[in-house]
Amino acid sequence: MQKTVERIAGDSEGVAYEFPVLRFEGKDKAAPSAYLQAALHAGELPGVVAIDALMPMLAKAEAESRIRGPITIVPWANPIGRAQYHFGEHQGRFNLGTRTNFNRSFPLLATPDARLLPDISLGGADRRLKNRLVQLSLGNDIVLDLHCDDEGLAYLYIHTSLWPHMADCAAAMGIDAVVLWSEDTDGTFEGASIMPYQNAPANVARFDRRAVTTVEYRGILDVDAALAASDAEGLYRLLVTRGIIQDPSIPKFETFSGPVVPLENIDMMPSPKAGAILYDVKPGGRVKKGDRLATIVHAPGEAGGRTEVFAPQSGLILTRRARRIIRAGEDLLKLAGDARSGDARSGTLED
Ligand SMILES: [Zn+2]
Repeated sequence: MQKTVERIAGDSEGVAYEFPVLRFEGKDKAAPSAYLQAALHAGELPGVVAIDALMPMLAKAEAESRIRGPITIVPWANPIGRAQYHFGEHQGRFNLGTRTNFNRSFPLLATPDARLLPDISLGGADRRLKNRLVQLSLGNDIVLDLHCDDEGLAYLYIHTSLWPHMADCAAAMGIDAVVLWSEDTDGTFEGASIMPYQNAPANVARFDRRAVTTVEYRGILDVDAALAASDAEGLYRLLVTRGIIQDPSIPKFETFSGPVVPLENIDMMPSPKAGAILYDVKPGGRVKKGDRLATIVHAPGEAGGRTEVFAPQSGLILTRRARRIIRAGEDLLKLAGDARSGDARSGTLED
């Protein structure tokens, strides 16, 4: 394994950011390649500790000469967000200087050619970081962006062009659900990793061997040694299943038996009132249309001071908020519905 350190210039003299890149060489030029990154939203750490648990497995495979394709790993993808604290609270989701989400405004290239990246020499440190992450990842057959939700199941976002080809990946990783999307107007990292291939010739696009996904490793508090170990095993199985690592002890994964939900089926359930949330449901639960999802206590002790929220359709609870305070209009949870949402929001992944 080789470690290099990337350096991103800051926005003023004397400020710079660094992050490590860990690389394993592959011995077989024809084998696929993989890129894994974690903590692009810098406070989302289940993927960071999963990578930490994965490394000894990769080191063993390297020592036994079982690594076929090159593997590039960026365990801390966002040194800018990692360093941001505001009044004592870590702020890893938005760049405090620009209010830009760290997982938005990635360049969506017309073809998978890093020479098309925009000139960002004057663009700000976060844009320089985004360009560099695209450069590091572009061209890899497997690109995994490890995130987590507030509280949630383990699930994957996958572009429709890669489904059902990636059913083996979902099965190998042992995740709970898959959300399929088709449009990215905001420039997520995942979008920057798959949209350039949409108009590429079939021999470049290779959707049968390409795997690109935003991995939502449950909730922000699910940073736990046992979960990290099982997620690392899932990542390892994926690398074996896709031919990057040789390991005959790992069975072949083909079909995924969990729920596969189009993004249009997700109901986000904006809260009608500001207040304290009393949830009736938690991630993994099934609900029927009309079931109560939550009660918002907005005027405690007063007549009419509680407002109930009901399921607009039947489905699976994918996530809910980690904090119990909410403003009117903020989303209460993600309900992966059995049918299209009446409130379907196009495009964006809420990761
Ligand atoms: Zn995230």
